[in-house]
Amino acid sequence: MKTAELADRFLRYFEKRDHTIVPSASLVTDDPALLFTVAGMVPFIPYLSGVVPAPFRRAADIQKCIRTNDIEEVGKTPRHGTFFQMLGNWSFGDYFKEGAITYAWELLTTSEADGGLGFDPKDLWVTVYKDDDEAARLWRTIAGLPEERIQRLDKDTNYWSTGLPGPAGPCSEIFFDQGPAYGIDGGPATDDDRYVEIWNLVFMQYAIDDVTSKYDFRIVGELPQKNIDTGMGLERIAFIKQGVQNMYETDQVRPVLDLASELSGRRYGADHGDDVRMRIIADHVRSSLMLLADGVTPSNEGRGYILRRLMRRGIRSMRLLGVDGPTFPELFAASRDAMKDAYPELGTEYSRLSAYAIAEEETFLRTLAAGTTTLDLSVAETKKSGGTTIAGSEAFLLHDTYGFPIDLTLEIAEEAGLTVDRAAFDTLMLEQRTRAKADARSRKRALADHGVYREFRAKGETVFTGYTDLETESTIL
Ligand code: ATP
Ligand code: MG
Ligand code: MG
Ligand code: MG
Repeated sequence: MKTAELADRFLRYFEKRDHTIVPSASLVTDDPALLFTVAGMVPFIPYLSGVVPAPFRRAADIQKCIRTNDIEEVGKTPRHGTFFQMLGNWSFGDYFKEGAITYAWELLTTSEADGGLGFDPKDLWVTVYKDDDEAARLWRTIAGLPEERIQRLDKDTNYWSTGLPGPAGPCSEIFFDQGPAYGIDGGPATDDDRYVEIWNLVFMQYAIDDVTSKYDFRIVGELPQKNIDTGMGLERIAFIKQGVQNMYETDQVRPVLDLASELSGRRYGADHGDDVRMRIIADHVRSSLMLLADGVTPSNEGRGYILRRLMRRGIRSMRLLGVDGPTFPELFAASRDAMKDAYPELGTEYSRLSAYAIAEEETFLRTLAAGTTTLDLSVAETKKSGGTTIAGSEAFLLHDTYGFPIDLTLEIAEEAGLTVDRAAFDTLMLEQRTRAKADARSRKRALADHGVYREFRAKGETVFTGYTDLETESTIL
């Protein structure tokens, strides 16, 4: 089954059960504190918290998500994308635990011929919060699961709260067992990759206060309106149902991976390192395209910086596959073709969106060419002198002269078996920032009496803090 068909089955199943189908919200949130929509619940927060009455009692949706904190997993695990689509069904004070468990189990295990997803119950495991006897009992009675396939876990995996006074509640997660060839026995409690988490059911049940951390609080009582929030990874069920090894091999992603293989002349499946790179490229190209479609453009701060880093990581991965020239014109077009049935704006807006990607690649290829030569020299010299650490001043120079991002320096150094004196680099960056701020202050004083410059100054006199501010925030990239 194609990804689109799985998505359609999900929506139709809930539509038949009186759920209002809600279109995906943008990847860009209204909340400045949250860069991107990281889960299906984000656009529903006002309804879930009770601030705004929900316009429907039941809803279902496919929400576009970006999770940059999964970036290190991309290509290495089978199941983590920086972009993915979260299928969700929602109850705002309507059905609760029993309804949520019934629907999830029925949709997963009803045969494909009867409109379900056709999972074999033998392959499914569930987890519940350790004290949630009610959920455990429901899984036994509704799904007929034996006790040993209902595992009780602690708050860190099976409890939801915002870390603030307000709603909270236990979760129950459904896992697919890929079989003994993929790892050890023992169910999801082993945390082994053999068990793929496919669906998370959140039971928003309690009001909490005295919150000292996300998992440390006092339950005040039951919520007057209990809600259901669920999230199932579309790419995860797609890879399982399509009988491929991971989400990057599914129909919406694979064409880009194949093209990366073709352009580099490296066969997918021949070398683990190359395979990871091809998967990173396929993932990052798609995430970048989806971000561009939601109005993000590359820049040195905030959301634009994340987009820039995703594209640059993709470009760098192509280089590691031995391709030095531009590839974005082809890779982005392939991603558009794979995604445009689900997101028609990718087709209609493509020339405008791809122009950003193509320009970014041109600039970064120039940066890379210049910086890499210098860095290669440092690596060679460090090795020759028997050292293992590249000087912080060297990394700073690369950054300052070529705009060479520190994590790229770290990555290249690591590949060469070296480290970088990060502390020295950070000190130099801090010094530079302090200098820039002092300069800005003295320029401001000098201009203080010239009212005519005021407007110009407000626009032009921004201190460049992009890399320093964001490096800490996004070392993940
Ligand atoms: P995992 O433990 O595998 O990282 P998670 O517990 O972080 O997943 P949730 O926050 O519970 O995931 O999100 C709900 C569902 O969304 C997951 O059960 C999974 O199917 C899907 N999902 C989460 N993160 C990703 C991702 N990075 N790429 C693809 N699908 C994802
Ligand atoms: Mg996760
Ligand atoms: Mg999890
Ligand atoms: Mg989860």
